[in-house]
Amino acid sequence: ESQVERRIGIERQIINFCNYYPNEPTALRFLLTKGEGTRVWDVDGREYFDFLSAYSAVNQGHCHPKIIGALVEQAQQMTLTSRAFHNDCLGEYVEFVTRYFGFDRVLPMNTGVEGGETAIKLARKWGYEVKGIPKDKARVLFAESNFWGRTLAAVSSSSDPTAYTGFGPFMPGCEFPRLCVSFLFAHALTPSCALTRIIETISVSMVPYNNLDAIEDEFKRDGDNIAAFMVEPIQGEAGVVVPADGYMSELKKLCTSYNVLLIADEVQTGLGRTGHRLAVDYDACKPDILVLGKALSGGVFPVSAVLTSDEVMLTLKPGEHGSTYGGNPLACKVATAAIEVLRDEKLAENSASRGEQLRSGLRSMEGSTSIKEVRGRGLLNAMVIDQPAMGYGDQGKAWDVCLKMKENGLLAKPTHGNIIRFAPPLTITKAEIDQCLDIIDRSVRQV
Ligand code: PLP
Repeated sequence: ESQVERRIGIERQIINFCNYYPNEPTALRFLLTKGEGTRVWDVDGREYFDFLSAYSAVNQGHCHPKIIGALVEQAQQMTLTSRAFHNDCLGEYVEFVTRYFGFDRVLPMNTGVEGGETAIKLARKWGYEVKGIPKDKARVLFAESNFWGRTLAAVSSSSDPTAYTGFGPFMPGCEFPRLCVSFLFAHALTPSCALTRIIETISVSMVPYNNLDAIEDEFKRDGDNIAAFMVEPIQGEAGVVVPADGYMSELKKLCTSYNVLLIADEVQTGLGRTGHRLAVDYDACKPDILVLGKALSGGVFPVSAVLTSDEVMLTLKPGEHGSTYGGNPLACKVATAAIEVLRDEKLAENSASRGEQLRSGLRSMEGSTSIKEVRGRGLLNAMVIDQPAMGYGDQGKAWDVCLKMKENGLLAKPTHGNIIRFAPPLTITKAEIDQCLDIIDRSVRQV
């Protein structure tokens, strides 16, 4: 047994992270040890282009010297005070981040899912105190196939059975209506009667993505109790689902006319990933609440942020929300450096042009290979392989393509069986994209 197999075996056995790697092909059992810019290296010295970027956390490239410099400098000075005491980093950071994104206020958190939870708490509080929703009646709507993390509120609002099965009871006011057989028996109802009952009692909190009429119908039906609609401007985990142009700006208008807050979950799409500073910029939309995470630290450690107006943020009173590590000095310095890198190196602009180059290169392979569709914005892209969609962890042709790409020096993973996400660091150059297109072309033809 090799050293690599032994270490991976220990990881799988002890952490029980096998749920991350169902049926993992042995070819993917390798250990990465070093990252720099667009590339990573394994313990045997093999070099790969990283086309996942830790699910868009490493937008600035691995171990960006400016971000690492800020981390090291601050780590030697002070790392944590908690919010019990003031430190000399937080004020500077919150002024910078709110000015940069054009919001009155920010609440610094750690992970993306905590950002989502914070946004929902804010929306509920605003719903009661400003909108006047009756006690405990506030609802937050979500789009079908959303993904915003793994906490109980997040799985309550998920339409993916793999995410929610076995984790009930679910969060009231967020939950996806699950029409299950046991419910019918328990209530001795016919399916249509049960559906009406569910709609009336549990309240539908899920609408189809990219469908304004469905949202308006729900707003008309129960708008007085709806505090917010939380949505990804492009659905990342659903397989890079790109909505129609203008979706976000039309949504904003709709939300405004029904006095509902629009929460943009830009944990994956924000910070240059889609060729804009934020994905909502594409539609010139300003959400009421913006959630950022992942690349806010350039992949260095968890840093997230929830940005909003005075009206929304000031509904939170002392002691009602917080986090030991939220807004720690290290995070403040790292996040500032991470945003400065995006701004100063014009990475959103690079993402836009390199994304065009990547998609047009992939599209030119479409007819002669098993590539069925190419979609995306900026450097958040998906290549759909001509094979049926499959369950979580099932292997098919898309897996084989990924294994070939790995052999040829490029790391990417399939999702939903037939979709391969291409999201390299935004620092990637024109010549590197050409090199990667060559790897992809060869790999697709070798399968
Ligand atoms: N929101 C979106 C859109 C995401 O893609 C993710 C993670 O993939 C999250 C939230 C959750 O972020 P985290 O894993 O940092 O909690």
